[in-house]
Amino acid sequence: MGNDLKTLLDDVKAGHRLTEEEAIRLFRTTGRQVWEIASAADEVREACAGNAVTYVRNQNINVTNLCVNACGFCGYSKKPGDEGIYFHDKAAIQKKVSLAMERKVTEICTVSGLHPGFTAQSYTDVYRWIREVAPGVHIHASNPMEVAYAAKKSHMSTVDVLEAMKEAGLNSLCGTAAEILVDDIRQKICKEKIPTKEWVRIITEAHGLGIPSTATIMYGHCESDADRAAHLAILRDIQDETQGFTEFVPLSFIHMNTPIFRQGKARAGATGREDQLMVAVARLFLDNFKNIQVSWVKEGIKMAQLGLIAGANDLGGTVFEESISKGAGATNTDYLDPNEMQRIAEDLGRTLARRTTLYELI
Ligand code: SF4
Repeated sequence: MGNDLKTLLDDVKAGHRLTEEEAIRLFRTTGRQVWEIASAADEVREACAGNAVTYVRNQNINVTNLCVNACGFCGYSKKPGDEGIYFHDKAAIQKKVSLAMERKVTEICTVSGLHPGFTAQSYTDVYRWIREVAPGVHIHASNPMEVAYAAKKSHMSTVDVLEAMKEAGLNSLCGTAAEILVDDIRQKICKEKIPTKEWVRIITEAHGLGIPSTATIMYGHCESDADRAAHLAILRDIQDETQGFTEFVPLSFIHMNTPIFRQGKARAGATGREDQLMVAVARLFLDNFKNIQVSWVKEGIKMAQLGLIAGANDLGGTVFEESISKGAGATNTDYLDPNEMQRIAEDLGRTLARRTTLYELI
């Protein structure tokens, strides 16, 4: 699609809104034209998000790895009787929060397994424990699956759970558990997770209550290009309605220790071409998102750097403690020093800028 591609990219730069069919065509591009798409996305990034490479000082706290679900892509969760189960109580969590404050983090991020004993109060208790130690920190926590689980366990509506979470100190919701927002694929990789419609409803409810969220996709397993495009279209529609997404974060599938890979139901993750195109097509398709993040945890630092010249403007967080990707087989996921982020940014001729969770520069 030589000239066709150039025309399409010129049209997008001039304000044309990509259709799903056009996004599928872009995802299928091979050879040196991949760089043309990345280059167009980089121009769009510069026009809408500027030249700074942003990051946040954050710390993850995964409260427990015990989970009632058994998602096929998850190498993190444990079942009763498994080795290596952990559960952090109030004292342990507050100790981690104190350490995070010494590290001058501005965001604490908590996502966990769906512990069989959890209720809505289990989540709100965790937020209050964090607040006691760190009154000013931004709590970025839970996701629509956890909200749905808390609602079910406590016989509450999801709106009531979200309100209780907000009251307890939740500032923004994680846009994870989205995986691929196509129910056929969800049935294959995480059939116990909430269906697409419910994920969309809960995210929209959160935005309506003034709780912003991230938006994510997990790609590189058994989804098609059409599934990726359908997923992006759902996110763009929600953003049109709510403006509640702070950023889009593509999460490249870490396959090594996951049941779906071991059973031959998923491929060995996305290729470098796909990682580049995921960022670039997202930048071109999601014309109502200012921020596109590359995940150094999922892609590794070198691929993440290339994502910054394919449409991304943000490097995510310092993290300080990471268990989920490590559980699936990734390495070096615990901490990325801002000095290394600076080296990566300056190597591209850009500057590094520290931000809050909501993208105010610090
Ligand atoms: S992805 Fe989350 S819900 Fe699914 S098994 Fe892992 S911890 Fe549980």
